Amino acid sequence: MNMMNMIEIRTGKRVEIVDITDKVVEEVQKSGVQNGIVIVYSLHTTTAIILNEGEKGLLEDLEKMLEKLIPRGARYKHDIIDSNADAHLRATLLGNSIVILVDGGSPVLGTWQRVLFVELDGPRTRRVIVRVIKGD
Ligand code: ZN
Repeated sequence: MNMMNMIEIRTGKRVEIVDITDKVVEEVQKSGVQNGIVIVYSLHTTTAIILNEGEKGLLEDLEKMLEKLIPRGARYKHDIIDSNADAHLRATLLGNSIVILVDGGSPVLGTWQRVLFVELDGPRTRRVIVRVIKGD
């Protein structure tokens, strides 16, 4: 595995949303690929990657939504061995990876689109793969 394609993220809270857009843009530019796609892929089962607006209030709303839909400690079977079932379940809901088009050497992002890493069982050090695939 090419270490150049790995982003390391240190989180400081149990649930935390980290904007990694600039790092993804940097990896795409470093790759030298002009046109293609970039895949942003988390190596963990209690994190997620989403593409959305990074506005502070919205991020708080997202955390609230996760708490409401999948509350912590709601008699999950996995909690018997690892007490973090809510984090796994929330991760499945949000998804583990995203794909972004690359054009002219940069990711194609709408005005409000940001690449957001979602920590669901922190604080921890996390690894995210950024793989740029050349098109034509
Ligand atoms: Zn677990």
